[in-house]
Amino acid sequence: MGGRGSGRRYGKQKTSSVTSINIKTLDDDERAHGSVSFRYTLDGKPEEHTVTLAKTACHYGGVRYWFKCPYCPRRVGVLYLSGGQCACRHCFKLAYPSECETDQDRLFRKANHIRATLGWQRGIAYPKGDKPKGMHWKTFNRMKATYDLTVQRIIGYDIKWLEKINSRRRASL
Ligand SMILES: [Zn+2]
Repeated sequence: MGGRGSGRRYGKQKTSSVTSINIKTLDDDERAHGSVSFRYTLDGKPEEHTVTLAKTACHYGGVRYWFKCPYCPRRVGVLYLSGGQCACRHCFKLAYPSECETDQDRLFRKANHIRATLGWQRGIAYPKGDKPKGMHWKTFNRMKATYDLTVQRIIGYDIKWLEKINSRRRASL
């Protein structure tokens, strides 16, 4: 491992379009690499994302492959490309319906609510924007601080969750 993944081309994209990549579409060579690069042209400019792969042992033998989301500690079967970013659906706010909302979904929703209020594009994978015109700096700084804290909690939450899963797995060995 450690080498660059083999490249995949995803043609041309418009900023607003979303392309999904399923882990199942990778071939054995790409999986063996431990990482994969996605290359495409976004509004005429070349873009490239290198994503690390993870694997877990299946219950009945064999291994299952995952993408490691570049923005949060999730392991996912599907990644999305949009607006020059590459992330999981949670980071792009392509979320679950609210009836099966978890604590973490609520944090994602809170983060996106702040983004929407500030006129930033929804999704924590997108860059942070500027202060909206007419908003007081004090209000803006307070909202930005809440936003940063929420994003930290999203990431912290995931780490705790992964630790829990890993310790359970160790306990069952
Ligand atoms: Zn993510």
